Amino acid sequence: MIIQILASGSKGNVTYIEEQGYSVLVDCGLSARETVRRLRSAGKEPEKIRGIFITHDHQDHIRGARVFSKSFNIPVILSEELYTGMDPKWLRDINNIQLYKTGSDIPLETLLLRPFPVSHDATQTVNLTFTNGKKTAGLFTDLGTVSVLVKTHALTADLIIAEANHDISMLSRGPYPLWLQQRIRSKIGHLSNKQCADFLTETCLSGKIQNIVLGHISEENNRYDLALQTIRQHLQNHNIDIPVQAATQFDGCKEIIL
Ligand SMILES: [Zn+2]
Ligand SMILES: [Zn+2]
Repeated sequence: MIIQILASGSKGNVTYIEEQGYSVLVDCGLSARETVRRLRSAGKEPEKIRGIFITHDHQDHIRGARVFSKSFNIPVILSEELYTGMDPKWLRDINNIQLYKTGSDIPLETLLLRPFPVSHDATQTVNLTFTNGKKTAGLFTDLGTVSVLVKTHALTADLIIAEANHDISMLSRGPYPLWLQQRIRSKIGHLSNKQCADFLTETCLSGKIQNIVLGHISEENNRYDLALQTIRQHLQNHNIDIPVQAATQFDGCKEIIL
């Protein structure tokens, strides 16, 4: 399985997954044009992508999905609950929509997607793991809080992409108004570096995780080096020796082969 994050953060999220020539995008929060540009510069062919899975209807996850879907005539895959509740403008004129029931797995040829609901404040938000039957990766961003369900899914993953959104003191000293700071810190917002460190430590101690990518790192309320340092230090304090890298807004991360 090949995983490559093309963008991660509040200005747009796109993740590319490929298994035996079958590929899908998870979210398409950049413009379709920019998504195509990044795919091509990563050596991927947008024409070969077979679907776009949408985690939630915040624009940093759905912005380019409509145009990308229409351009390549591929389905947008989302839950019935999200589809029913969201602003229809995001999917206007798309006739290729594939709905699933929340709680059910989605078999896509060589891949199995396992979405599950989280508390983040969109119409409905899911996080998910994806597996080829041998290896499993999980995308745990736009979380809000680490529920029992989140922990259970994380234990199945060999690779985790986890949100380290903000540093608490940078957030409180930063440019955001108080109401927005409170939303970010709440159960319907995003995980801090410290919350991410606790989540990853617990998962590493009882799971099978071998590789960690930090994602959805805020450009206003965090720094890539600070997120990396905080989480690496926390893991080291628990004698956990697992590589950690950060995905960026500008160019995501390098291809990971699982
Ligand atoms: Zn987001
Ligand atoms: Zn969101």
